[in-house]
Amino acid sequence: MTTDAPTDVSDIYGTMVFNEHVMAERLPSVTYKALMRTIQNGEPLDIEVANVVAHSMKEWAMEQGATHYTHWFQPLTGITSEKHDGFIDPTADGRALMRFSGKELIQGEPDASSFPNGGLRATFEARGYTAWDPTSYAFIKDQVLCIPTAFCSYTGEALDEKTPLLRSLAAIEEQANRVLSLFGEPKQRIVSTVGCEQEYFLISEETYTQRLDLMLTNRTLFGYAPCKGQELDDHYFGAIRPTVSAFMKELDDELWKLGIPAKTKHNEVAPAQHELAPIFENANRAIDHNLLTMEKMRLLASRYGLVCLQHEKPFAGINGSGKHDNWSLSANGKNLLEPGENPMENLRFLVFLACVIEAVDEYQDLLRMSVASAGNDHRLGADEAPPAIVSIFLGDELSAIVDALVNDHESEYISAHKVAMDLGVSVLPNFLKDNTDRNRTSPFAFTGNKFEFRMPGSSQNLSETNMILNTAVAKSLKDFADSMDGRSGEEFEQAALEHVKELLKDHQRIIFDGNGYSKEWEEEAARRGLSNYRTTAEAMPSLLQPKSVALLEEFEILSENEVRSRYEVKLEKYNKLINIEARTMKRMVRQQYLPAISSFADEVAQNIFHIEGVDNQADMGPHRELLGKLTAGMRRIHDLLTQLDEAHHRVRAIADQQECADRNATEVIPLMDALRAEVDALEIVVARKYWPVPSYNDLLFYA
Ligand code: ADP
Ligand code: MG
Repeated sequence: MTTDAPTDVSDIYGTMVFNEHVMAERLPSVTYKALMRTIQNGEPLDIEVANVVAHSMKEWAMEQGATHYTHWFQPLTGITSEKHDGFIDPTADGRALMRFSGKELIQGEPDASSFPNGGLRATFEARGYTAWDPTSYAFIKDQVLCIPTAFCSYTGEALDEKTPLLRSLAAIEEQANRVLSLFGEPKQRIVSTVGCEQEYFLISEETYTQRLDLMLTNRTLFGYAPCKGQELDDHYFGAIRPTVSAFMKELDDELWKLGIPAKTKHNEVAPAQHELAPIFENANRAIDHNLLTMEKMRLLASRYGLVCLQHEKPFAGINGSGKHDNWSLSANGKNLLEPGENPMENLRFLVFLACVIEAVDEYQDLLRMSVASAGNDHRLGADEAPPAIVSIFLGDELSAIVDALVNDHESEYISAHKVAMDLGVSVLPNFLKDNTDRNRTSPFAFTGNKFEFRMPGSSQNLSETNMILNTAVAKSLKDFADSMDGRSGEEFEQAALEHVKELLKDHQRIIFDGNGYSKEWEEEAARRGLSNYRTTAEAMPSLLQPKSVALLEEFEILSENEVRSRYEVKLEKYNKLINIEARTMKRMVRQQYLPAISSFADEVAQNIFHIEGVDNQADMGPHRELLGKLTAGMRRIHDLLTQLDEAHHRVRAIADQQECADRNATEVIPLMDALRAEVDALEIVVARKYWPVPSYNDLLFYA
């Protein structure tokens, strides 16, 4: 538990990180400079330099109490993996030295045969290797020096989430630099920046351990709505209860030590739901940090008698948890999605804006695919979550500018602030930043100087989403740069503005500022030809489309083989999760719910028997009605259970993952929903003492 003494944040911040400050302090200056060239420009690091870095890392780590090191990586399971190796190296005379070599720093060889690979390694070798990613700092966790790494097969195929992300960062950097050079800017370091807002639930460990569904699937497979939900809006931003507050405080301390810029914490809309938002960083680090944050949340919760649920939809009918992906591009620290101070900067802004709009429209299916998961299927389109249709919200000011450009009326553009503005090329105005985004229903919203992608689910690793976003935008930037080649000065400005107008005209259908939750939008989106994939099973095939493969191959992000393997892994994971859920459901119905309902029915029957025995005039109508309800409900539960059992076994046996997923979505899940509804209906009829598991009231409103 934390002490009551306030933490001096600057004293602890980054103390567990081998960051630039530590490197500068500890490495010989030539080594430091060589390492910086690797970190900043991707130059290869030679083994001599690596040896020096490794030694210094080990010395530093041991001073912080570390005894082991690990290559920390992100296989396609969605979580992070680590295998700890001691620094220990026994000597011939019976003593031990502590060693860590450059080779051990740069490369590891985990036995990778148990990680998902979608058939990739079957054709090659069972071994994989991990390679140091020097762009994300090494850190210490639990007395282990963790080295962020990429994870590949021996023939170089990516087996992880990080590798394609890093490749996409290189692609967008190159193309954005080409665009900036047209604006007369020198080559610079361009990174995509990401700030991930993490939503989660905290419930008491005591109720959690009484629910098999929560323990095995992270969500409730049964449960009638609580008497009180979120309708009073009294949880959002409400005072944080002491246990939760203590948890959040310790969490912040732990994250700050790891150099994770945790900034904002608050109660969310749903009861027992909370959020943590860090300050944005470059995408690679932001995602490493998000994964660490999630892990810390899960581990720390148990110290407070709590359990942290990171599932997208732990409770039906209650808001689910997302992970908003705030995204922008930064060139040497300058935000390229920031409307500028002068006309040229505004033109540059419009070019980047139009390219993002084009990218999101062209590759909406891939973006949707990237957020597809069994858990998120329950969230997208439900309650407060964005719909499964990708669209962009721009806000009043920008929408007006886009309209003016599309209709060639830019010279008549009047800003919301009633200042006439001339959008002629050489005199593009200083338009105002619109920070007033209150459209929470948009899946992809411009929020003043960045986009906020709200579809990703809370349990997701954001690498794939950002990989797609970066690559799709790189493609639009490339097309722009290609079409501008050789132009400069006023000719370039004219052509650039024309290009922007064309893009906006061609892709205006993706822009939607209205209510994304409404039925009318679904119909309107269909008329506009926007995709609406309701389930993972429906969303996945877009990954294999020739257009998708072509994009990923063009920028050398993923080969067709790698694409196929990812597709297989994701579908397999979906099918396995549905299999676990169906099995858990059946187990709970057979061993918990049916016996409980039967016992209660027995009590009611005995009541009737006893009361009538004493008073044969007594009106036993209500008792009989209740008994009838219980036995009829049991009949329906029994029938649905039989049907689910049959469908579950039949679908599970289907070898083709896509067909299996399709059938899970259309046959198994509807039966699970129907079975749940019958059990839930009896939950509010059966006496509480008979109900075998804690209810939503117990789970969501704990002391
Ligand atoms: P809201 O709840 O209104 O969405 P938050 O403050 O909770 O706002 O989250 C906004 C997130 O966006 C933060 O993580 C913030 O650091 C991040 N962010 C701000 N500017 C950028 C940027 N240029 N690039 C990426 N993320 C950004
Ligand atoms: Mg947000």
